[in-house]
Amino acid sequence: MLEGFVGWPREFVDKYRRAGYWQGYPLGDIVDGAVNEDPDRVAISFEGKHITYRELGQKVDRLALHLLDVGHKPMDRLIVQLPNVPETIYLYFAAVKIGVIPIMTLPAHRQAEIGYFAQFANATSYAIPKEIRGFDYIKMAQEIRSQASSLKHILVLGDDIPAGMISISRLLEDPIEKRLEGERILKEVRPNPMWPAVFQLSGGTTGIPKLIPRTHNDYYYNSLCCKELSRFGRKTSCLIGIPITHNFSTTSPGFQGVFMAGGKVVIAPSPAPNVVLPLIESERVTAIPAVPTMIMSYMSDSDLKHYDLSSLELCLVGGSRLLPEVAQEIGPRLGTDVQQILGMAEGPNFCTRLNDSEEVKFCTQGRSISPGDEIKIVNGDGKEVLPGEVGELLVRGPYTIRGYFNFPEHNAVAFTSNGFYKSGDLVRMHPSGNLIVEGRIKDTINRGGEKISAEEMENHILAYPKLLNCAYVAMPDPLLGEKPCLFAVAKGGETFSLKELNDFLVYERKIAKYKLPERLELLDHLPLTHVGKVNKKELRRIITERLKEEGEV
Ligand code: AMP
Repeated sequence: MLEGFVGWPREFVDKYRRAGYWQGYPLGDIVDGAVNEDPDRVAISFEGKHITYRELGQKVDRLALHLLDVGHKPMDRLIVQLPNVPETIYLYFAAVKIGVIPIMTLPAHRQAEIGYFAQFANATSYAIPKEIRGFDYIKMAQEIRSQASSLKHILVLGDDIPAGMISISRLLEDPIEKRLEGERILKEVRPNPMWPAVFQLSGGTTGIPKLIPRTHNDYYYNSLCCKELSRFGRKTSCLIGIPITHNFSTTSPGFQGVFMAGGKVVIAPSPAPNVVLPLIESERVTAIPAVPTMIMSYMSDSDLKHYDLSSLELCLVGGSRLLPEVAQEIGPRLGTDVQQILGMAEGPNFCTRLNDSEEVKFCTQGRSISPGDEIKIVNGDGKEVLPGEVGELLVRGPYTIRGYFNFPEHNAVAFTSNGFYKSGDLVRMHPSGNLIVEGRIKDTINRGGEKISAEEMENHILAYPKLLNCAYVAMPDPLLGEKPCLFAVAKGGETFSLKELNDFLVYERKIAKYKLPERLELLDHLPLTHVGKVNKKELRRIITERLKEEGEV
């Protein structure tokens, strides 16, 4: 077992197995099962090419054998920083099939984030594209490798790559299975379903990012429940335009759920309307997981009426709060049903049901997906609130983690003593039994579904030499829901612009650009609460007022 992994206590293991939640299948079985069922069905569509389940299975096995051949062992960690391309799915399943743990990062991450994960998780390998929009991932990987001694292999999409790196495209072309006894080898490394299978990233509440270990058993079960509640089947054509490494794209129901159902994943390189709308028409897409911002951009697209969206049955909307006014417009404008998803990479997953009333579908974020979920809504003292009152959502269950990877100090505060995960979300129970997200107590910013830890950013920003103190807070945004605003106090006599600060964050601190503050408010001092902490509530009020005065919200 992996050191630093916190699993479920014995009694819960027995309970979840007895109830049939954990069925003992490693995640690699998802692809194998679909190949056995109907190898000629299309599994993936990308850029007009269709990949059948047979081809998917062959590519996954070939890549898995190559990973072993170059020296990977079960429980090695592989950082996956790949865009929305089929190779990301091949590599993901190749890794989980042999017990190698993919760390699911985003193409937007930079040296600060990836370098940290590489060192913290002692990653063995790192998979990258060559470049995206002019950004050189090879150079970044070389720099990271010089600092992270555990990194042995850099796997790169495409050909023509520097010596010492491995081309994923070449591996996919090289029929290693003809030289080796593939079936026997893969059987020997078949992972134990109780093991960590995948590391997702935490939306973050602490100064340092956290890794979320999801086991084969729990991740499999998560997808299975979601797939059933979204009624995915062989006719499902599910378009993934959000980053494919996200928990939402992977498991909720995600590509795992689509493959369990024998459906087709349509990979969109971006969520932009001019990419997604034509694909819905040409691939007869039936379902789209999306964040509210994306759905709003499709609904208001000036070319919308030129596309035939008649195949679309379901928009699965989650990641950030969908306003009821927007939810009720989805049907009339896009001609589809809506299913709200409240999901967390830590596990907890809620969704509205397809037979819920319109009021429930539009106004709530759903109820838990498994009868094994235990939820509590508690006040600041940890006592359960009365029905309908707002409190923090706590969750324990067969697919909710019991601890972050290798982070005992934080686990002691992020979980209750009896194993409930403290979500940091403020929710209220609707009379239907569904939850409504009312806010949060965790200090994060939800930028159109991408979560940013305020503390992590403040640590980076405080390194700026001209700055004395700062507070990174959410400001409302009509499209993204929230954007980061920085309130800062400059050192005596100093002054600086947002651009100067952001250049420092990008070029010196090397952080992902989506985390950059989008507005700077210089103050003489930061307002404090009566216990002497920075009063972020007051700062959020100030910036909201200013934006209102400026007519921005
Ligand atoms: P992540 O783990 O990055 O997916 O972030 C999970 C967090 O996103 C949750 O704890 C919520 O704060 C937020 N979130 C996810 N889905 C929704 C939703 N449907 N409505 C409101 N907030 C959401």
